[in-house]
Amino acid sequence: MFKSSRYDQMVYRRSGNSGLLLPAISLGGWQAIGSYRSDEESKQIFFTAFNHGITHFDFANNYGDPSGASEALFGRILPDMPRHELVISSKAGYPMWPGPYGDGGGRKYLIESCEQSLKRLGVDHLDIFYSHRVDPGTPIEETMGALDTLVRQGKALYVGISNYPDPPFSDAVAAVRKHDWANITIHQPRYHMFERTVEQTVLPTADREGVGVIAFSPLAQGMLTNRYLNGVPTDSRVSSNKGNGAIEAGQITPDRIGQIRKLNAIAARRGQSLAQMALAWILRDPRITSVLTGASRPEQVVDSIACLENLVFSDQELTEIDSIVGV
Ligand code: NDP
Repeated sequence: MFKSSRYDQMVYRRSGNSGLLLPAISLGGWQAIGSYRSDEESKQIFFTAFNHGITHFDFANNYGDPSGASEALFGRILPDMPRHELVISSKAGYPMWPGPYGDGGGRKYLIESCEQSLKRLGVDHLDIFYSHRVDPGTPIEETMGALDTLVRQGKALYVGISNYPDPPFSDAVAAVRKHDWANITIHQPRYHMFERTVEQTVLPTADREGVGVIAFSPLAQGMLTNRYLNGVPTDSRVSSNKGNGAIEAGQITPDRIGQIRKLNAIAARRGQSLAQMALAWILRDPRITSVLTGASRPEQVVDSIACLENLVFSDQELTEIDSIVGV
């Protein structure tokens, strides 16, 4: 059913010092896919991705509407895919159920939530399980210890952290080393041309500590593509905004459109779509393991993958990009 050529074009990068190889381009089920599309439409997006060598699919307990719907949808598709060829991740950290145990970084929440994710996905283990965000109310050792428990129980093969600034990223690494717990294999921060915070601390720390980095929302939720060059299309994420952190019309300002158009002109000079250039710009950095994209249709996946044809930027292009986005 899947193309025998599916591994011919994709590039796989090692996540930090681990043995885990991830595709340079990964696909997430937060917005657009999952409960925002029918099972059949979502299946076509996931199948197209896998047919092009995208082996990594990312979820969290709270993805979809209602929360959990994206994992449940993928659980219905997964029986038609070779599970052993895929890296499936999930996370817990944001509010999931009422009461004191459905949010944060405590042991009870992480372990109960992982159990629920396994059931929704219909799998007996996750390949990566993340602490989705820092919980200042819980000792970092408790959160890291809970991740280690999941590895020892065989419910997660690797563990990671997401949205952790540094500190406490380095504190988490130190806690794991001190107790000889499961390594933090990967960090999942937001990173794109408009959002550069991780360049100061998270990327150098990840490099020093041998932790991989998978950049989420690398297209700024669609702003770094051709979608908003001429206003807001009716079939875009902005138009179908269902809350939960999705971009809103107010973010597509005249200034932003001006930046997008200038970036699009550079992409055109490079012979790339703006989406391809935005992904290539992140992947040019060898500290990055993968870019974690989203897609609302199969054609976007195919377009994005072609970024791999040119990951090289001249100093002049990099300077021009920085000056357009105001860095
Ligand atoms: P992107 O920044 O890649 O945005 C995806 C959107 O960009 C698509 O829905 C589509 O917009 C548009 N798009 C994608 N490819 C193209 C293309 N080639 N040409 C034109 N338009 C394109 O990522 P997301 O914001 O969707 O996030 C990706 C994943 O990252 C999530 O699914 C999730 O797994 C993870 N994530 C993790 C978070 C965390 O806290 N750890 C938070 C957020 C995301 P349109 O729908 O308008 O067509």
